[in-house]
Amino acid sequence: MRLVVVGGVAAGTKAASRARRLDPEMEITIYQEEPEPSISECGLPYLLSGVVGKRENLVARTPEKFAKNDIEVLVRHRVEKIDTSGKKVSVLDLKTGEAFEDTYDRLVIATGARAVLPPIPGAQLEGVFKLRFLTDSDEIGRYIKEHSPKKATIVGGGYIGLEVAENLCRLGMEVSLIEGEDRVALAYGREVSDRVEAELASHGVGVYTGERVEEFTGEGRVRSVKFGSAELETDLVIVGVGIRPNVELAAEAGLEIGTTGTIRIDRHMKTSTPDVWAAGDCVETTNLVSGRPAWVPLGDTANQMGRVAGTNAATGEDTLEFPGVLGTGIFKVFDLAVGKTGLSEREAAEAGFEVVSAGLDAYDRAAYYPGASKVFLKLIADRATGRLLGAESAGRGAAKLTDICATALWGGLSYPDLVNIDLAYSPPYGPALSPVIQAATILSGKFERAKEGVRASE
Ligand SMILES: Cc1cc2nc3c(=O)[nH]c(=O)nc-3n(C[C@H](O)[C@H](O)[C@H](O)COP(=O)(O)OP(=O)(O)OC[C@H]3O[C@@H](n4cnc5c(N)ncnc54)[C@H](O)[C@@H]3O)c2cc1C
Repeated sequence: MRLVVVGGVAAGTKAASRARRLDPEMEITIYQEEPEPSISECGLPYLLSGVVGKRENLVARTPEKFAKNDIEVLVRHRVEKIDTSGKKVSVLDLKTGEAFEDTYDRLVIATGARAVLPPIPGAQLEGVFKLRFLTDSDEIGRYIKEHSPKKATIVGGGYIGLEVAENLCRLGMEVSLIEGEDRVALAYGREVSDRVEAELASHGVGVYTGERVEEFTGEGRVRSVKFGSAELETDLVIVGVGIRPNVELAAEAGLEIGTTGTIRIDRHMKTSTPDVWAAGDCVETTNLVSGRPAWVPLGDTANQMGRVAGTNAATGEDTLEFPGVLGTGIFKVFDLAVGKTGLSEREAAEAGFEVVSAGLDAYDRAAYYPGASKVFLKLIADRATGRLLGAESAGRGAAKLTDICATALWGGLSYPDLVNIDLAYSPPYGPALSPVIQAATILSGKFERAKEGVRASE
């Protein structure tokens, strides 16, 4: 039995390792276009600043380590075509230029996603980068060493742009961030965006929202960025305006593509084609709150999906299920942790819910305990049933609050459950009533008033 895996980062390597564990006899080959497999892209912003000291720290397992487990990893090899009727893949060795064919009994597609570099004039100038792989951070690192940039511009106020902004500040650069929409961190509500923007400003980052970059200028090397209201001098640009799923290979092979533009799979990570599974950033799953198809390209999810795909590819049966996601995520920008689970108010409205929400700034530990600081938490509930739909948090302690709320969402809890939920308390770790309980209590009041005929509002 021969398993071929296309793509060797989070989902692909997890699938291969899992298959090996379940079937010691299976032949397993991973084709990986990038020079390293099994990298932690999540660590790249911290590698740029040196918070993570060595690039090797971001490579969980080398091809040699995989070989010890009898998993062949062929890096700098791109699968160019899949022939699902002949069960063959066409491969190009990017080092030698040699093209060859390989056969499979079972196939896992884990081709992930790529960063988008929009066609802005001047985007090809030296000093304009995107950040997705170690090869990108290598290039940025080399450029920084060679040119010692003093002024940097981030294009895009999503979590990657925000993480990079912090890490370039750590290198002593004067950083500006340009976002096309009217606020950063758009996946969140405005309260969180405001807090993130305040955090950026307090660390000297110039934030320009509602601005579209029109052009990068410079002779060979980038020197400025032009947008509606201004032109900023810049020596370095990192573009973080989003990613695109790598689905062309699967689409050309005739696999069904879902409404999100990613590979359609069932709960067993099976594609529409027999003996082909798919996992990670290239597939769509179900948002467990809205019940709708969702594309949530995140590293932990890619790993979990890879485990299911690898298991089922090894057994050839529907052994494991991947139920879907809540869309739980967290990022750090300077001293602010920013986390979310489930739907934002906007996403809930788009999914057809009418919501009642309650937000508050609570202490992250007992108010009298040294170092206590405020953390924002908002709970979003379904007006019709009281079921929790989502939560957002910003501040120290946001990671814990986000995970509590994610667990509540996973369990389908409603606001009354959270009013009485039994959580740990001690002054150094939280206030007597967790911010989750406090927010649920406010929510409860709003629902009670609504029952009495007073319409619940913000
Ligand atoms: C800067 C940054 C920070 C991030 N931070 C976080 C975080 O904090 N938390 C979080 O959960 N997620 C984070 N992510 C997202 C996370 O890294 C991805 O969700 C995860 O890497 C997806 O894994 P994957 O295996 O599906 O795909 P990818 O990581 O995209 O890997 C797919 C691999 O397949 C290869 N490939 C594609 N096509 C072919 C082909 N035809 N033949 C051979 N190989 C091919 C690609 O070259 C690539 O190496 C971050 C991402 C970035 C870039």
